[in-house]
Amino acid sequence: MTRCSLHNHTVFADGGDTAEAMAAAAFKMGCISFGISEHSPLPIDPSGGMKEGYTEIYIDTMRSLRKQYQGRMQVWCGIEQELYSPLYEDVYDYVIGSVHYVYHDGMYVPVDRSRQEFVQAVETVWHGDAIRFAEEFYRLTAELPQVFAYDIAGHFDLITKYNEDDCLFSTENMRYRDAAMSALTELVKQDKIFEINSGAISRGHRKTPYPQPWIIRELHARGARIILSADAHAAENIFFGYEEMKELVYSCGYREVTVFRNGQWIQEEI
Ligand SMILES: [Zn+2]
Ligand SMILES: [Zn+2]
Repeated sequence: MTRCSLHNHTVFADGGDTAEAMAAAAFKMGCISFGISEHSPLPIDPSGGMKEGYTEIYIDTMRSLRKQYQGRMQVWCGIEQELYSPLYEDVYDYVIGSVHYVYHDGMYVPVDRSRQEFVQAVETVWHGDAIRFAEEFYRLTAELPQVFAYDIAGHFDLITKYNEDDCLFSTENMRYRDAAMSALTELVKQDKIFEINSGAISRGHRKTPYPQPWIIRELHARGARIILSADAHAAENIFFGYEEMKELVYSCGYREVTVFRNGQWIQEEI
């Protein structure tokens, strides 16, 4: 039973609940290792990051929550670091590395902000060729380990957020597969822990988690570590979809997932 949830957001960024409410809910749900991974501040699009001036308040809040739950639940202060944010200071217990924008011709094109923006970007920026958008997304994903150090590869195929059932582009297209595979190869080489992430399901955008099953099977074949994540933006979702995700990764060959205990990444039986 995985009672570890590390990818969560609060009112310090785009979440709906306070860190206190999130921690209380996690504890009530039997969590033993709980973390918030607030979005890094993002001057190119402030709505996508931690609110200005909140970094220290966030860290202080997590410190006092850690004290409050000492001996009952481990509380961690993480960060979901975006490629285009200023570099983080080395004060976090863990780092999730994420790409939410693709810089192209002087513009920061959002990957996951809305379906309408995604469709519009494909039309106007990539002249109808969504696979080119995906290729640029995966090239940046592969380069991320050179930009900053991180532990967890956030929502590896976020580019498919609005593409469930391949409604916008084919994820069987060889160019798409090649782009995803070369990013995967690079991140596996860097020993990143890949998320199985249910965040878009709890928010009503998708029916299945990131990444697609063929990617999970490929990760398993290469011996990559995986971690279950809710990417919760509300207290009730801290373990959203964990049971289904366990079944999914089991069907893809996994018998263990990674959890964070006492400040260490360890393997735990599913
Ligand atoms: Zn994210
Ligand atoms: Zn997130």
